[in-house]
Amino acid sequence: MFDYLIVGAGFAGSVLAERLANGSGKRVLICDKRPHIGGNAYDYYNNDGILIHKYGPHIFHTNSADVFDYLTRFTEWRDYQHTVLADVDGMRVPIPINLNTINKLYGLNLNALELKEFFEKVREKREPVRTSEDVVVNAVGQELYEKFFRGYTRKQWGLDPSELDASVTARVPTRTNRDDRYFTDTFQAMPRHGYTRMFENILNISCITVALNADYTELQKEVAFREMIYTGPVDAFFDYRFGKLPYRSLEFKHETHDVETFQEAPVVNYPNGQPYTRVTEFKYLTGQVHKKTGIVYEYPKAEGDPYYPIPRQENAELYRKYQALADAREDVHFVGRLATYKYYNMDQIVAQALTVYGKIEGLKRKEAVALRKQPAPAILFPTGNGNGNGKPNGRPVVEAVS
Ligand code: FAD
Ligand code: UDP
Repeated sequence: MFDYLIVGAGFAGSVLAERLANGSGKRVLICDKRPHIGGNAYDYYNNDGILIHKYGPHIFHTNSADVFDYLTRFTEWRDYQHTVLADVDGMRVPIPINLNTINKLYGLNLNALELKEFFEKVREKREPVRTSEDVVVNAVGQELYEKFFRGYTRKQWGLDPSELDASVTARVPTRTNRDDRYFTDTFQAMPRHGYTRMFENILNISCITVALNADYTELQKEVAFREMIYTGPVDAFFDYRFGKLPYRSLEFKHETHDVETFQEAPVVNYPNGQPYTRVTEFKYLTGQVHKKTGIVYEYPKAEGDPYYPIPRQENAELYRKYQALADAREDVHFVGRLATYKYYNMDQIVAQALTVYGKIEGLKRKEAVALRKQPAPAILFPTGNGNGNGKPNGRPVVEAVS
């Protein structure tokens, strides 16, 4: 009998697996319907030997020392400050919009104070700031909004910025200084040997069993467990009882180019024109030295794997109905970006998972992170009602991750 069945081996599921096993001595079965661990942060070496992120660029950044310290147990880091250029008016200019952006775009030579005055002149005051359009127009006015945000957002979300919560474009600040970095968090770094290696270390304990290519809807018929941690889409868990929760999907087009450098920045955003939103060149992120280079184009779409919850009022209302069902399930903990329908970054998911673990243990997060217990003995798999002969039935694939 497992103490926990954990559905999903991304950040939410893996962090909880580690804590329940190492912190509480529980026996954990963690499954993923995909053939790998790591969830959307999964990376691997492609056929040309280039380390790439299968599901698009993942850049780690956080202001939480707790989260950073926790992950430092499982990886060394490589310092990395992310930068992005936007392809606008035939030029490549820094985004978030800052002093360098405006000076290059308009051929000006403003200083920070003059840029403040410039924004004061062009901005359209919006009160209250409710939508993603309001955020940008209120800060930098209509023209810059159209150049940098309107087209990109329509492409990315299939919605006009006026139909999305303010929180979406508020992720991208406006600056009056020359800081070209995409993020300004205290901790900005990439796992030195990649995300997948870090996940292998997180899950490398004998009382955690990992089942890949394993959908929990099948698995739960074959194994006995006491409680579940669920990190998949919440509407799917409840058989879409109130209808489908909208998630935005993407198609990733990976390419290898026989050149050392493909583009002049780690990411180039294409707000207008192209059907894709951005192009990422992974070697900038990973620091890998290689004579070829790997890039990915992101094409947004409505159908497909659920990648982004869509932050807007009507979706929040629908989610609340599912949340009420989730809250009523004492035997299942709903955690992560898909299960709590939150547009969260990796660090926020780690924080959320650690908080849930604290609640399970009746402890504050900090205390819960520090817990250590003698590991439970490993468990043979499959167990429970299985196929009754004690032999694996060929499905799912169970792998040691170390
Ligand atoms: P996931 O990683 O989605 O894991 C959930 C897992 O559950 C999946 O592997 C899925 O296969 C599995 N699952 C679902 N249903 C079932 C089932 N029925 N049975 C078994 N398994 C199931 N964050 C950052 O901090 N920085 C970034 O730069 C960044 N870039 C991103 C770029 C893109 C294109 C995307 C899509 C996201 C990005 N993120 C970034 C966000 C980051 O991916 C998430 O915050 C994080 O991966 C969420 O972890 P999770 O465990 O909640 O979900
Ligand atoms: N955005 C935009 N233009 C840009 C960059 C971002 O319009 O050049 C908007 C867009 O709506 C995007 C949101 O800001 O979805 C958040 O951007 P972020 O880079 O954080 O998106 P993510 O990396 O999560 O896809």
